[in-house]
Amino acid sequence: MAELYLGGRGLATRIFYDAVDPSCDPLGEDNVLVIAASPLLGTNAPTACRGHMVFKSPLTGLIGSSNSGGTWANAFKSAGYDLLVIRGKAPKPVMIDVKPEKAEIIQVSHLWGLDVHKTTEQLTANVPPANRPKVLCIGPAGENLVLMAGVVYDKNRVYGRCGPGAVWGSKKLKAIRVLGKMKIEYEDKEQYQSGLDQALYLMKQAPITKRLLRELGTSGLVELIDMIGMLPHRNFQDTLHNADDLTKVSGETLSKTLLEKSGACFACPIGCQRHTRVEDKKGEGPEYETTVMMGPQCGIYNLEAITRANYLCNELGLDTISFGGTVACAMELFEKGYITLDDTGGVELRFGEASALEKMVELVTFRRGLGDKLAEGSLRLAKLFNHPEFSMTVKGLEIPAYDPRASYTQALGYMTSPSGACHLRGGYAVSLAFFGGAKEIPRWSLVQSPIAIRNMQNLGILQDSLGICRFTGFAFPADPWSRMVSGVTGFDFSTARLEEVANRIATLERLFNLEAGATSEDDTLPERFSLEPILVGKEEKLVPREAVEKMREDYYEVRGWDERGKPSPYLLKSLRIKSRKK
Ligand code: SF4
Repeated sequence: MAELYLGGRGLATRIFYDAVDPSCDPLGEDNVLVIAASPLLGTNAPTACRGHMVFKSPLTGLIGSSNSGGTWANAFKSAGYDLLVIRGKAPKPVMIDVKPEKAEIIQVSHLWGLDVHKTTEQLTANVPPANRPKVLCIGPAGENLVLMAGVVYDKNRVYGRCGPGAVWGSKKLKAIRVLGKMKIEYEDKEQYQSGLDQALYLMKQAPITKRLLRELGTSGLVELIDMIGMLPHRNFQDTLHNADDLTKVSGETLSKTLLEKSGACFACPIGCQRHTRVEDKKGEGPEYETTVMMGPQCGIYNLEAITRANYLCNELGLDTISFGGTVACAMELFEKGYITLDDTGGVELRFGEASALEKMVELVTFRRGLGDKLAEGSLRLAKLFNHPEFSMTVKGLEIPAYDPRASYTQALGYMTSPSGACHLRGGYAVSLAFFGGAKEIPRWSLVQSPIAIRNMQNLGILQDSLGICRFTGFAFPADPWSRMVSGVTGFDFSTARLEEVANRIATLERLFNLEAGATSEDDTLPERFSLEPILVGKEEKLVPREAVEKMREDYYEVRGWDERGKPSPYLLKSLRIKSRKK
């Protein structure tokens, strides 16, 4: 199975597919959540630190896929485990304590109700640093089944997308604590080392991995993404920002004002983490997505307010992308008169209202007042107020901080991402923009976009299955990984073999979604992107319906799926995918 599905996202998806009933209630006890490490974890492969969770998402009702860095997944792997499969539901709050000799379930009712910071502190108290276990946990948002709740490691690194925190909460799972110190054996150290040397060399050559991310963090992308006309504004109503306002939330401003020091996940030479301080509060971030989704998307250019709200999301356990997208949707509904002051309890929920941000984080987390409705995500919120057209989601997941009208490749990535609108699972099209200069992206090419996004999605699948960071894609694609993973495992993972593995995983994810009720109609964009143009340079751009349909059709063909997006029996056989027995 490891030869066919590699690890991380791939192996977790296979185990999940075999274990779960696709029609199950995502918050019911039949949902299954798989957490996976990968074959490169525990080595010193650059950025090999990421764990992956697969589950049925309460936001989308389809496959949920979420990934995070830090050091938790390395500790899990070093305790001697590849996967953890979580089924059923505990009668009372529990944690799972993972050690090399055994994993056990322990009751932790006393931790229920605590935020992420307090939970982490309690579970690591009185242990000297050398033996300190690593803690992954949910905060009150997950406990309260907020659909956009995440799972948090080390107080700041979040498995955010698709609502894994709500699934943990529904199972009464508060935390997973691990302690591991095992050393990884290499089958062919020389082969591994040749891949490693090449990877490190290429990362030192590429400007984004060499300097930009270390010096400015991911929010160093704010002005670059604006430069290519992709930075969204006010719930995707336009992409027009005042340059002085934008500078207030840029990576440079963050570095000059709130930054205390940079940091890095395990084995990462890039080091994009931002350790920041606002008055007496300290934390990490904000990242690019958080900055834009809680900032310009909500008409807000106040870096301190964004940073404080980001700290609070991490403390209480919320995905900042879906949270920002849902608040932006609520702001548009409020400004257009569909949500009233009565609904908000007197809060002026207007674009630009920075003081509303932290208030909304608390209302959503504890499901108070209007927060109870926002806790369901923007699609359910907008439907409740009879205007679903203001929810900027695909398959029920909030679109992150890249406007799809500025790139057909990006648009198609959102449309066909298995987990809904995700820039990571949908294909990190933005890295195409910086391989050879913005002009070289096939930005509005109907012919190239389906192939380009398939390739980007496949690279992302490999990165998620190897446990490495998306940002390495700014420096190189699959080749060095092929040698490293072959050297570690002793399997022949040539680049051609890895391509086959990625196609297999993409097709299995598709199969699950079809069985869970998705159709080709779900592979689409909100109508705003086809009706309301944005300005890119001097040109008006949108994604016309014909382009949506044509790209979808061609994408299916490139994937080897039929015109309804269904993998053929021939494809399943070629990829050696065993589908569910009926
Ligand atoms: S680039 Fe940033 S997010 Fe990626 S592994 Fe390094 S520190 Fe972590």
